[in-house]
Amino acid sequence: MIKQSKDFWILKQDKLIPSEALAWESLFTQGSGYLQIRGSFEERLENSPQNIEYVRKTTNVSAEKFINQSTRWGCYIPGIYSPHPVFNNEITNLPFPLGIDLYISGERLDPLNSTITEFSRELNLKTALLKRNMVWKCKSGAVLNIKWRRIVHALVKKLILQEVVIVPDKDIEIEVVAGIDGDVRTNGYDHFTRVECQASSMGCSCVVETDGGNRVEIASIMLGDGWKGEANGKSARQIKKIKLKAGEQLVLEKRSALSCDRDVDVLSASEVLDRYKDISFEKLLTGHIEEWEKRWEKSDIEIKGDKKSQLNVRVSIYHLLRSYVDDDRVSICSKGYSSDAYWGRFFWDTEMYIMPFFLYTDPAKAKNLMNFRINTLPAARENARMYGYAGARYPWEADSSGKENCPDYLWQFRDHQIHISGDVIYGFLHYAYASGDYSYLKEDAAEAIIEICRYWMDRIDNVNGKSVLLAVTGPDEYNPLKNNNSFTNQIVIHSLKAGASIGKEAGVSNKEIAEWEKTAENIPILRRPDGMILQFAEFESLAEPDFKNNWKDRSRPYAEFMDEERIYRNKSSKQPDVLMMMWLFMNEFSGEEIKKAWDYYEPYCTHDSSLSPGIHGLIATRLGLKKEAWKYWEKTSDFDFNIENGKTSSGVHIGCLASIWQFVVFGFAGVKTAMESEILTIDPLLPEKWEQVSFPLIWKGQRVKVTINHKKIFVENMSDGNLKVNICGREYIIAAQKSVGHIIQII
Ligand code: BGC
Repeated sequence: MIKQSKDFWILKQDKLIPSEALAWESLFTQGSGYLQIRGSFEERLENSPQNIEYVRKTTNVSAEKFINQSTRWGCYIPGIYSPHPVFNNEITNLPFPLGIDLYISGERLDPLNSTITEFSRELNLKTALLKRNMVWKCKSGAVLNIKWRRIVHALVKKLILQEVVIVPDKDIEIEVVAGIDGDVRTNGYDHFTRVECQASSMGCSCVVETDGGNRVEIASIMLGDGWKGEANGKSARQIKKIKLKAGEQLVLEKRSALSCDRDVDVLSASEVLDRYKDISFEKLLTGHIEEWEKRWEKSDIEIKGDKKSQLNVRVSIYHLLRSYVDDDRVSICSKGYSSDAYWGRFFWDTEMYIMPFFLYTDPAKAKNLMNFRINTLPAARENARMYGYAGARYPWEADSSGKENCPDYLWQFRDHQIHISGDVIYGFLHYAYASGDYSYLKEDAAEAIIEICRYWMDRIDNVNGKSVLLAVTGPDEYNPLKNNNSFTNQIVIHSLKAGASIGKEAGVSNKEIAEWEKTAENIPILRRPDGMILQFAEFESLAEPDFKNNWKDRSRPYAEFMDEERIYRNKSSKQPDVLMMMWLFMNEFSGEEIKKAWDYYEPYCTHDSSLSPGIHGLIATRLGLKKEAWKYWEKTSDFDFNIENGKTSSGVHIGCLASIWQFVVFGFAGVKTAMESEILTIDPLLPEKWEQVSFPLIWKGQRVKVTINHKKIFVENMSDGNLKVNICGREYIIAAQKSVGHIIQII
């Protein structure tokens, strides 16, 4: 478990446990909106070479065993993808720019092998500054106090700053070797067709060309004089021997930058270094902090009375903020660029999990995420064509080209998890409704919506007078290839209705619109005779899962104990399916229907997907199930912070982190989404433990601050116009810059 710090802006690691190192490295990932880098140590770890070649054997990432390493470097520019012979295009792990090795009398500092008597690492979430303090007892007898600081600059987005401060207790000579290592692999594969390294007293550079056709330049420089350059093969370094007196302080500063041939801002890595060379670390840090403060002002959630939840919520928001890429030619991948485990691909996670955070805190960013889908419409059209369909069919796993990259061995998801195209439409509508930017649907997104509808019309079969979707995989990946999956049917109905409502203005014929409307009415949502919604037609004929005998250790994924051949035969689910549909289409179902589905499906769910517990929690809050809501809150908010269980080693689960935000705002605070309600509507179910929660929101362009405790709900209208709100069933009009305090009736 993560230790609590007095200041709830600090994520702190105070022990160096090799088996936990990878998880911390994921949690300490830093990103600028241009580049992303895992929180690896500056030093090479002897037990973890980064040039090992291997082939991952994975069918289910949640149950995958990764190769045994204590560090896994990850340096990414979102958008740089390279083809893997088995997995298709993957985000490319670029040369490691952070390296700084320290030698005393021939002994190299290696945090896992050297004698370290004190250790702590902390990420200040507010400032995105990563610090490390260590005391190294060298074999020579000297004791060194070493402090590191690192930022990936929030404004100068191509720039990384590192500082090391060393104080020895005896006179020593220290050798510093700092440079760039281009001998790295992505998921065990070498994507570089050319690596060219150079070094001089003035700095190092490494230019790589990838088999994906990109060219990336990495440059680094150690500030100060007296450095000697050395380059060989795939690495380059600057070296210097420095004599230090006992108690004397040595300050080293390394600056690195990355650039590539996709850049819109054309400054090369070396030009970036040159441009900022005379600006001090502190000055650059100030600009970086100011930018982060602006981000937090728009999005921070304050929780009183529960320190653990407070920290977890802030860590989640930090990762959402840092994983956003300022470029609508890419989106946010499912590991939030904190590893290559999911190949840097874009799933439905964006629309359903990640995008809402931006939508209600910084809508322009949500628009960028949705624009990515519009920009990749040509690839979605091409994808439909490849399957022999009309219109546009979005890929299950997209890279920046928007093409399908889901590998062949996951064909049951790639070919059948077609709900993704409807999820994209849902995302467009959610963006428009919550931002108030309705013209987006009629203008920017119209073509994509229409093309998706055309694909649906071609994909739908007619059986016994009904319009049906056969052989589909719903969100629950443990039940692939089923008929009339309710989630998929519902998202298709929604798509066709959306298409019909914007179609006319976009030039679609009345005849085609009428067909869409008629088909939407004719798609069934299957129910049992007692009215309970079926996940799909065959659901009740599946076997009962024997969790008791087959899933002995509930802290491990079910898939570790059961292979797919067995999982597919029973009712166990990976993640919510009917409940997910109900969450997205709350107004379509009565409380009674939702409760019935909860009672029936919840016990079958393994939560093997990190996307699962958050949605269960949201449903529990809507049903007023306090105890269950809290149980799911703990499951969701701990998912990536349960360092010991290793789930975070292969990167943070950004969709799950985003569901933490949704859980607080839509769940405990009870804010209805703009898909549920026209006006801002709040009906909280505050956990007993929480004294108060407060957060900013943007509702249809109006800035609002919501504060909820057990007695009152305050809504502050920070905008210049009147704001209509509904608080616990009562309507208020709040004048500009005024607030309202609603007293909670204790029944
Ligand atoms: C889940 C999908 C999800 C993907 C990426 C899978 O394990 O089943 O719903 O989109 O991970 O996060």
